[in-house]
Amino acid sequence: MKKYTFILFAFLCCFSCKNEPTITSTPSEDLIKEAIPQKRAAYAMAIHGGAGTILKANMTPEKEAAFTAKLNEALDAGEAILKNGGTAMDAVVATINVMENSPLFNAGKGAVFTNQGTNELDASFMDGKTLNAGAISGVTNIKNPINAARAVLEKSNHVMLSGPGAEKFAKEQGLEIVDPKYFWTQHRWDALENAKAKEMQLGYHDQLEFNDWKYGTVGCAALDKDGNLAAGTSTGGMTNKRFNRIGDAPIIGAGCYANNNTCAISSTGHGEFFIRYAVAHDISARMAYLKEDLATAANHVVNKTLVDAGGSGGIISVDKYGNVAMPHNTPGMYRGYAKPNDRGVFIYGE
Ligand code: ASP
Repeated sequence: MKKYTFILFAFLCCFSCKNEPTITSTPSEDLIKEAIPQKRAAYAMAIHGGAGTILKANMTPEKEAAFTAKLNEALDAGEAILKNGGTAMDAVVATINVMENSPLFNAGKGAVFTNQGTNELDASFMDGKTLNAGAISGVTNIKNPINAARAVLEKSNHVMLSGPGAEKFAKEQGLEIVDPKYFWTQHRWDALENAKAKEMQLGYHDQLEFNDWKYGTVGCAALDKDGNLAAGTSTGGMTNKRFNRIGDAPIIGAGCYANNNTCAISSTGHGEFFIRYAVAHDISARMAYLKEDLATAANHVVNKTLVDAGGSGGIISVDKYGNVAMPHNTPGMYRGYAKPNDRGVFIYGE
């Protein structure tokens, strides 16, 4: 009898051991991921000069060389600051200023025209350390809208100022004000006339599809030596946009986002979709909540969420370690990145 009692006891012991619950103190996979910190790059930055139907077949070697040179000049401006221990915020503004002052991009000097033949500019800026942000929208005479967005962050109690109020504020802050004619360029005027002719044939929505669309918004995301992230975006919006239309570029969480815990992002593309899908914040949120890495999160939002919705465009981004991701669902996107001893500038879908 004793023998059988012992066998039964041993069997019960064995059975209960097999069904022992998972030891709760074992770190989950998420915690393991967080527990292995990556080495942080000394600095990193990424830029874009817009996405769209940018095809080698439509490009002359001269135009391609001009874009490549200007993207490198923009990277030089930001990298000089980061290399010397300057802040991500300073690097973002200096980089964007180079592109705003060039007629090549749809921001500042090269801004596109509204349906009424005016130029209305939008910009945003975000500090990943404090989550402070500044934006301006629908301005017509501020030479460098990104400087005004930064001034809203640093010198006002607000996040976004629009129209005449933003212009008055920029003037009071001593920023450069120009005659709105400064933004007039022949190639943008021709683009407006083409878009209007297409709209007569096809209607507003379909002209967007058939236009040789190139979103030329500019943006920059940067990580500095202190581990702070910042992002900025500046644009003229979309050719033939309606009077007072505001796109995603000045909307924090859509066209721009920065958070030291995740990443810094700037967007370019069909703004209405980027607003509706809160694209920049969604990428950061996927990293924070799903523990996705930057490339996975950015790729999902640009090549799945946006594609499923029919939204075209792309983003550039830098994470807290200095990893860079620049996905786009368009044939091309003017883009580039710089890190210590590492730089790349790209135009097409390579
Ligand atoms: N996202 C901008 C807008 O919709 C356009 C662009 O990226 O060029 O206003």
